[in-house]
Amino acid sequence: MVLRMSRLMLKTLRDDPADAETASHKLLVRAGYVRRSSAGMWIWLPLGKKVLENISRVIREEMDAIGGQEVLLPALLPREPYETSGRWSEYGDLLFRLKDRKGADYLLGPTHEEIFTQTVKDQCTSYKDLPVILYQIQTKYRDEARPRSGVLRGREFQMKDSYSFDTTDEGLAESYDLHRAAYIRIFTRLGFDFRVVSAISGAMGGSASEEFLAPAAAGEDTFVDCPACEYAANSEAVTTVVGPVKDVDHPALKEVDTPDTPTVEALAAHLGVPASAVLKNLLVKVDGEITAIGVPGDREVDLGKLAEHLAPATVELVTAEDFTGRPDLVRGYVGPQGLGIPYLADPRIAPGTSWVTGANAPDRHALNVVAGRDFDVDRYLDVVIVQPGDPCPVCGAGLALDRAIEIGHIFQLGRKYADAFELDVLGQQGKPVRVTMGSYGIGVSRAVAALAEQTHDGAGLCWPREVAPADVHIVAAGKAVQTELALDLAGKLHAAGVRVLVDDRAGVSPGVKFTDAELIGVPTILIVGRGAASGVVELKDRRTGAREELSVDEAIARLS
Ligand code: ATP
Ligand code: MG
Ligand code: MG
Ligand code: MG
Repeated sequence: MVLRMSRLMLKTLRDDPADAETASHKLLVRAGYVRRSSAGMWIWLPLGKKVLENISRVIREEMDAIGGQEVLLPALLPREPYETSGRWSEYGDLLFRLKDRKGADYLLGPTHEEIFTQTVKDQCTSYKDLPVILYQIQTKYRDEARPRSGVLRGREFQMKDSYSFDTTDEGLAESYDLHRAAYIRIFTRLGFDFRVVSAISGAMGGSASEEFLAPAAAGEDTFVDCPACEYAANSEAVTTVVGPVKDVDHPALKEVDTPDTPTVEALAAHLGVPASAVLKNLLVKVDGEITAIGVPGDREVDLGKLAEHLAPATVELVTAEDFTGRPDLVRGYVGPQGLGIPYLADPRIAPGTSWVTGANAPDRHALNVVAGRDFDVDRYLDVVIVQPGDPCPVCGAGLALDRAIEIGHIFQLGRKYADAFELDVLGQQGKPVRVTMGSYGIGVSRAVAALAEQTHDGAGLCWPREVAPADVHIVAAGKAVQTELALDLAGKLHAAGVRVLVDDRAGVSPGVKFTDAELIGVPTILIVGRGAASGVVELKDRRTGAREELSVDEAIARLS
């Protein structure tokens, strides 16, 4: 591949887009990888499409290696199977619903457990047909409440979703482990810094579940991380503090400024945490009533709603004691039945345990807390988080709290969907056996932005080689002889299997070309400048900035 910038549809920008909050959003737009189409919907421009394809290729290779079979299902789906599973209503506002010309209900698929279950019911009849792993890389739709971080959280986005079908629990565990190992290979090859953490399984149901998190300041997930042992967990999956807790450093909070609204500093002081503490969800007394402000279905705070809530009201911060009347009960969570009070030390709360069950256990309620009156939930709502320094449930060391982006998620669904769809195969004994399932997702488009978050620097994007839109970015400084040599080099490198982007634009200053090369972030920059006449070029490592002068032949040998 030789991409000539003189012909490439690419317009780099000097200024950050006005609405961009995260580095990936700013840089992917400025470097011409993506362009906003409308809220949460993105146009993938030529360079961006290449990165997306590179990520997809790595995923395909590793999914094929564990025996995954690629299929492609429709994104436009009828209502009926989602009624069968209960998710037509469970999904709430997250689901894009539409009608056809006859008035029949449809949805745009947010994830495809239902349709895969139906497909296997149709295709597999005997235990001999299983196990099977099916996957697709496909467009998903979710009407996210806050599609604000560029392609990190789209309303239309690319996901790799796979589903395993087994006849036994051991089989499911094996399929899960195969995925877990494949995900580790995928994220390693893509160049991620990532952690595998236990997670709760939310609307999916089921038991074992882990998330792949890429630590990054722009992340919307918080995870606890033990510096002394292997323990790490999504903060949603572990002990939470009942209290007035929230993203105290979130910009949206600062926008709220009525006389009664606490400032970030007041919040932080009240909580006894630094103003930069990473906390999620807010419990406050609004006009005297305790309220949890958040989106229960997705366990995220809707900041628009937060501002709305806080603006006209008298707001007081709530402490755990306010909530429970007991100063010793500082950890817990809220469910529709009341406030559950499990402890870190509780042996039943193993890492990865979903706390949703048991909310109604004896002695585990807060008195006088009524769902709907005291907090706005029609589902279970986790209320917040371990504080930095809290003891690790495994080894007791002080936990750290970090922000991360969820890049992948693996679930053992069990028989939830198989039961709903009566998915059986004929077993060895000639009797029907209920199938057990796993579901496994990777955010393909999110991975582009998450990598940008983790790898960029002050000058721009800085891609790991496997995902970069090219291996080498040749900059022809401008004179005809330089451009000629640059194109010649590009051809030779191409012949040697190297992916080349060459800046052969006429009438663009070398300074602009260098700035663009840094912004675009291809791992190696090859400058054809002053030395060109005597056959000398300069090689620059985008990440380290290390430069080296080489002869043309040496450069070709080095890069191919
Ligand atoms: P999040 O917690 O960020 O909302 P999720 O838990 O709802 O994500 P899953 O249902 O687990 O997402 O979907 C599998 C993967 O799809 C996620 O791990 C993530 O990488 C990706 N993903 C989910 N929602 C989006 C989105 N709105 N935009 C881009 N990628 C997404
Ligand atoms: Mg979500
Ligand atoms: Mg999640
Ligand atoms: Mg998830």
